[in-house]
Amino acid sequence: MSRQLSKDIRGLFIAGTGTEVGKTVFTASLLHYLLKNGVKAKALKPVQTGVDASGPAVANSGDADVYARAVTSLPRLQASNYAFNLEQFSLPASPHLAAREESRALNVADIALRIRKFWADDNENCEFLLIESAGGLKTPISLTENMLDLALALNLPVALVCGNELGVLNSAQLALAAILDCGLKLACLVLNNCRATENIGFAQSAKIILEDNANFLRMLIKRIAPECLFLELAHEDKLDPLAWGRLSQELASLGMQIKSNLQGADLSKDRLSSKNSSLLERDKSVLWHPYASACNPPCVEAVKASHGNRIVLENGQELIDGMSSWWAAIHGYCHPKMLAALRMQSSILPHIMFGGLTHKPAIELAERLRMKMPKGLERVFFSDSGSVAVEVAMKMAIQCQKGRGEPSRTQFLTPLGGYHGDTIGAMSVCDPITGMHSLFQGILAQQIFMDRPNCRFDAPFDPEVMQNVEDLLEKHAKTLAAVIIEPIVQGAGGMWFYHPEYLKNLARLCKKYGLLLIFDEIATGFGRTGKFFASEWAGVAPDILCCGKALSGGMLSFAATACSLDVAQGICADGLPFMHGPTFMANPLACSVALASLDILESGEWTRQVAELENILAQGLKPCRAFSEVSDVRVLGAIGVVELEKPVDQDKLQKFFVQQGVWIRPFGRLIYLMPPYISPQEDVKKLCAAVVHAISAGHAVS
Ligand code: PMP
Repeated sequence: MSRQLSKDIRGLFIAGTGTEVGKTVFTASLLHYLLKNGVKAKALKPVQTGVDASGPAVANSGDADVYARAVTSLPRLQASNYAFNLEQFSLPASPHLAAREESRALNVADIALRIRKFWADDNENCEFLLIESAGGLKTPISLTENMLDLALALNLPVALVCGNELGVLNSAQLALAAILDCGLKLACLVLNNCRATENIGFAQSAKIILEDNANFLRMLIKRIAPECLFLELAHEDKLDPLAWGRLSQELASLGMQIKSNLQGADLSKDRLSSKNSSLLERDKSVLWHPYASACNPPCVEAVKASHGNRIVLENGQELIDGMSSWWAAIHGYCHPKMLAALRMQSSILPHIMFGGLTHKPAIELAERLRMKMPKGLERVFFSDSGSVAVEVAMKMAIQCQKGRGEPSRTQFLTPLGGYHGDTIGAMSVCDPITGMHSLFQGILAQQIFMDRPNCRFDAPFDPEVMQNVEDLLEKHAKTLAAVIIEPIVQGAGGMWFYHPEYLKNLARLCKKYGLLLIFDEIATGFGRTGKFFASEWAGVAPDILCCGKALSGGMLSFAATACSLDVAQGICADGLPFMHGPTFMANPLACSVALASLDILESGEWTRQVAELENILAQGLKPCRAFSEVSDVRVLGAIGVVELEKPVDQDKLQKFFVQQGVWIRPFGRLIYLMPPYISPQEDVKKLCAAVVHAISAGHAVS
């Protein structure tokens, strides 16, 4: 069985302070040591430039050839089984340029995925993987990503190799800082005496300088990274079998450490499940989970990592994500561009109060959102979660009506089956049944509920459905401040897709009766329905719009409420301020991550991805229509819904899905899929197959 595409590659990322510092000799020597000492190791060069790009990616070119030569000197080993290049390019230049010259483009996520595949596919023969980067840490892989980003994406300990020469004290310190600042573990600093001293231009003083370099760096490492090994490789004139033997011995302390760690890891495999269960015990004794009892806690899984469209559990199992962490992680997890934005911003300005101060990330984000949002939304108010964004929208509407001279307009009209959040104000406009209004009777504001929009997205529109809305408007117009509604898709209240004509008519009626129109795009914004904002299906611009969730690409809690100038002027009539101001308003980290997410969306790739997801979901969930337990199957954009006749057994079904290697969390009578846009087709097919299997095998209902 092949190993799962786990993030847990066991290996070492070999980085350099620059090119020609001896990374390859180090990698080959360590490979030699490990193989000689019974560790099944392999060496991999993810991007090799300056070789015959048409050749096979095995031990016959570039650095893989050097690895192979180090292995050949060992008896009974077939070198080509241990030395590999992944990508090969002809131009001897930086990867971004070498790839460009061959009309190709590289990116970190893709290379990291291929390395994981390489690791996963060779379960039997590879216990430890040596991955040698190209050039230095900041050598570009593309215009925006470099080797350090790759190290981060792989999250492996780093061996930093530097050549013992004039200038190394500067380059080594810069590289060490870059590695440690971003939280990577430093396994060793290798000082490679790669040049013969007699060839060094400054021969007379060379000995003193090179010795001092070694002493300086040894002391530095002791001070800044005491766990890290300091190693030196002697100069070898000729890399013959004897030289490989000598060089590998110089790395013995590192080699032995790797070997004993691997043995320790094997032993700890048995302990993993008990470690995991103790985590779950600890969870039960201190934590509360969403919509759950703390006295009879629900079944939960412990997660230790996530990457791409994968969730890695504490026990090492990897799940295909079908939820995007409640609609939010549209680009998957640990997207290097978003991580880079977070890192960059965290070292400049992680947070600052927004009262009396402002900053570029907030200004830029508001400007860019304004360009993307329906026309006329001119002022943006940032807050920390979707529910708060809804509270802000409701307060805006009430304050605006007051400012316009209509203080009696304090209620909201909203459809049944809606969901807008869990704070008291937001709850009052959620569906009264699924929102459990009975529990909070007397506390929640009394709102007016209209019928659920009974007009399917994919069926002809019947204008009759507006009658109920108009009746209620006529009756309550004097007390109604606004209509609040999730455009096109009612999410957590029932995953219902309704006709765009409904929104057009609703907008017309709001105008007629003097109500503001609030669109809650918290779940639907940023491409999920196939349009950037779902309201684009109807071509209707609201007076107020809330967004959240995917605003930060799912990385941080963040939301925004935007309103028209007209609304802003109503609110601020008579010089009044708007009475809201969260502590973490416009948090710069969240703004920067949101800007990075917009950059990713800006490429336009999402439209193709969402269309493709729609296709696969429609095909993959189609078999569910045949089951008697199923009442409806519907797909829109990257949302696939199977509605059952009866409520599901959530715990039982969740366990079943985890056994199947997928993360799907059903609720009520709904099993739905909402994968990250970057999900590979095969994975989405597996998600659909798991849903079909769950229902056909009778796991869906108890
Ligand atoms: N509005 C809608 C439409 C939502 O789907 C949600 C969250 N599911 C919210 C508001 C509340 O957002 P948050 O959970 O970030 O408070």
